[in-house]
Amino acid sequence: MDLKDKSLFIQKCFIDGHWLDAESKEIFDVMNPSDQTKVGTMPNCSKKDTVKAIEAAKKSWNNWKKLTGKERSIFIRKWHNLILENIDDLALIMTLENGKPINDSKAEITYASWFTDWFAEEAKRTYGKTIPSTMQGRRIITIKQSVGVCGIITPWNFPAAMITRKVAPALAAGCPVVIKPAGSTPFTATALVELANRAGIPDGVINLISVSEKDVANVGDELCENLNVRKISFTGSTNVGKILMSKTAGTVKRVSMELGGHAPFIVFEDADLDEAVIGAMANKYRNSGQVCVSANRIYVHESIYDEFSNRLAEKSSQLKVADGRTEGSQIGPLITPQAFKKVEEHVEDAVEKGAKILTGGTNDNSGVQFYKPTVLTDINNNMKIYYEETFGPVAPIIKFKNENEVIEMANDTKYGLAGYFYSRDIGKIWRVAEALEYGMVGINAGVISTEVAPFGGIKESGIGREGAEEGIEEYLEIKYLCFDGVEK
Ligand code: ADP
Repeated sequence: MDLKDKSLFIQKCFIDGHWLDAESKEIFDVMNPSDQTKVGTMPNCSKKDTVKAIEAAKKSWNNWKKLTGKERSIFIRKWHNLILENIDDLALIMTLENGKPINDSKAEITYASWFTDWFAEEAKRTYGKTIPSTMQGRRIITIKQSVGVCGIITPWNFPAAMITRKVAPALAAGCPVVIKPAGSTPFTATALVELANRAGIPDGVINLISVSEKDVANVGDELCENLNVRKISFTGSTNVGKILMSKTAGTVKRVSMELGGHAPFIVFEDADLDEAVIGAMANKYRNSGQVCVSANRIYVHESIYDEFSNRLAEKSSQLKVADGRTEGSQIGPLITPQAFKKVEEHVEDAVEKGAKILTGGTNDNSGVQFYKPTVLTDINNNMKIYYEETFGPVAPIIKFKNENEVIEMANDTKYGLAGYFYSRDIGKIWRVAEALEYGMVGINAGVISTEVAPFGGIKESGIGREGAEEGIEEYLEIKYLCFDGVEK
């Protein structure tokens, strides 16, 4: 691997300040989704390794939580600086294991660093309250304290940002963590942890356990069921989120769940069409459509349906599909053969049920896991693509006639993560923004993630918020202190 700092490529787990193999010495392979070559191997950790990591975290908690917010902030700031100093190496590691174009990997590392930046500041602002008492002689205040050891379970689609978005607020709040990255993208995670270690974050405060996807429940169950873990923060599929919620119920853990989405993207008749096409392109094709806030149903008013669809198809057909390391690549591979098959199935099912392909609709000859950017029209609600997350570069376009109808269609899903719409009518903008049952709404904006705003969903898209001032609250408990006998 052509890294400036070769010591950032680490094929071990991290417990109590040490890079280790699994106790069993078992390993699993991590493959490059672009060409199916092996990137490296990782320890296949078991319950035993997980317990060791949890114990190390627990041991470190007392000292870590007793630091001042400012002291913790200094560590997080150092970590932040090291992430940015090593952006090229981190991006290359990410592209090799995830497949995304190198420029997208760099953009993700930058995005990941926004959270270390933000929470280095927020570490100093975990304010409590003074509450006026209703009884003479009493005083009431609240203080905020760290939750305790947090299990951090992250997906492969944003291998860096999903870690910093959770770990930075956890550390800021005073919580130690045990990270379990996705089996397909552990090396971005180990590099980030190495940088945290270089930033001087004390032993035990950050631990990392890796496990193959086939054995993931061994580690997952321990994180969910161990009494010493007080919180699980998870980003991933709704199905796995439900499993984790049921397993954490036995020990009544706090949970943050960032789950699946099925975003509507509505283009009203009064929209700025150029902007709507630009927004749809940026939204739909980032990370080859493997994004939980990616548009899954594009609703376009009947008066502009053909024009919008043709313009989107033309732009989509111009995207460069190639190995993420190739200059100018814009669309990388899908993460696994199964992910590719799902996209293929969704498109085939739609076409069988009457959808038209304006562009794409097949695999790209860049490799077996590459799918061409695809635009489908004549979509209806009998098709799988209408309700299920496709997680691929496919833009299904649906015709609508009026505002009420499209709001009803847009909300007709179990998901509630992000929604988008384009309009220039101020009254309509307020009405639609309020009516959409989503945790986040982009108004004339196709890309809305930022560290300063609360990211999260409602319905089966999750519980809790990440980023913003809300993000650190997920790792804090509120304690109420009642002082009596103040006046004699
Ligand atoms: P995706 O569909 O995006 O791959 P998953 O929900 O399958 O999302 O995976 C997200 C994360 O959850 C990954 O780190 C994966 O290893 C982990 N995971 C999957 N199943 C379990 C489980 N039973 N217990 C704990 N973690 C799990």
